[in-house]
Amino acid sequence: MVKVFISNRVITPQGMRPAAVVVENGRIVAVTERDSAPQSSNVLDFGDLVLMPGLVDTHVHINEPGRTEWEGFETATRAAAAGGITTLVDMPLNCLPETTTVDALEAKRAAAAGKCYVDWAAWGGLTDDNQGHILDLANAGVRGFKCFLIDPGIEGLTMVTEAGLERAAPTLAETGLPLLVHAELPGPIAAPARELNGADWQRYETYLRSRPDAAEIEAIRMLLRLCRKYRFRLHIVHLSTALALEELAAAEAEGLPITVETCPHYLHFAAEEIALSATLLKCAPPIRSAQNREALWNGLQQGTIHLIASDHSPCPPAMKRQEEGDFRKAWGGIASLSIAASIVWTGMRERGISLCRLPQWMAQAPAALAGLSAKKGAIAPGMDADLVVFDPDAKFEVDPSHLHYRHKVSAYLGESFYGVVERTFLRGEEIYNKGDFPALGAGEEQVSLHLRHEHVHGAQSSTW
Ligand SMILES: [Zn+2]
Repeated sequence: MVKVFISNRVITPQGMRPAAVVVENGRIVAVTERDSAPQSSNVLDFGDLVLMPGLVDTHVHINEPGRTEWEGFETATRAAAAGGITTLVDMPLNCLPETTTVDALEAKRAAAAGKCYVDWAAWGGLTDDNQGHILDLANAGVRGFKCFLIDPGIEGLTMVTEAGLERAAPTLAETGLPLLVHAELPGPIAAPARELNGADWQRYETYLRSRPDAAEIEAIRMLLRLCRKYRFRLHIVHLSTALALEELAAAEAEGLPITVETCPHYLHFAAEEIALSATLLKCAPPIRSAQNREALWNGLQQGTIHLIASDHSPCPPAMKRQEEGDFRKAWGGIASLSIAASIVWTGMRERGISLCRLPQWMAQAPAALAGLSAKKGAIAPGMDADLVVFDPDAKFEVDPSHLHYRHKVSAYLGESFYGVVERTFLRGEEIYNKGDFPALGAGEEQVSLHLRHEHVHGAQSSTW
């Protein structure tokens, strides 16, 4: 069946223009002038509302199986659909078992079956102990591997040592899959942790001092050294310190296969403004200064930071210890899945950045990271008809009804943002319509074989 999606503002890789997106059997077959679209009884005309590609979020903690009291496939993918995100890539930790073996991956697949509103894929975990599983996991369809250089602070995935990375690197390079790294080293964190023992942990500043920029910078230097030696695809997740940008830009200029991500909370909040005991804002690495935030925006615009992912990492509300307000004891993680695009767009709007860059940072580049660019991340012939109808000028105040994930807790409650997702389509099928979710179960795992040399850098378009 042919469906035609029309808008005066369609965002394609070439920019924004009036167009008709022609969809057949869930795939885009043509993007034409409005008047030359084929006759169809199935025409949806969105007028001046923006039509952009479904977003791809490569950093989500779905936590299923094992911690469904935290989140789960049904609630996470539902929040994604409401946020215009049509593909999630799940992190290998916080779920139990952690995704470090094919058996664990199969358990995840069983847990996801029939429950997803949007498409999803899995990252595998890399530890010192599962190196014999790298190739099996790659062959079983993980999109890449995630590791921690510091204890993640939860039962399940364990940290990898530099020696472990040296052992794994040749195999990783052979797979062609990216290694996603939580880049903080324990060394620079140990000393302040001792000094701050008696400090006031209700103050955000205490927490910030406990996770200095140096922990990220030293980790990144070590990773760049290994990347230079073994040439595996390196991806730095949730970059918080802007002090690493210069070295990251130089490494990319040198030709190292690296990509960098940051998250909505680092682009929106500033340490100076975080209230006493506001533990909902605890995450690692920490939110830093307003000046650092502006430098991250700069890094995005320069192309040193390639993509934005939510790092949606929810937990049961009690674990945020809001009554105690103790930043040391509270669980670190910020939930934002359904409103991530609005947070980012509001920041872009304030800084005069074109809306065309939103799908570049939140669809095209993340799709490339996960090896999904042949089907996901852009409005172009041959791609899945994953489409979002977005009103960039509508404003809303975040209340629990906007969240849609399991626990209606968020660091953003009460804040106002521009950009409302009105409707979301997955492979041409409507999965979200102004608060309604017509199609539970439409989502599928994306396991098609990765393109070995797909580069996230390809998403940088000179026309923008
Ligand atoms: Zn994370």
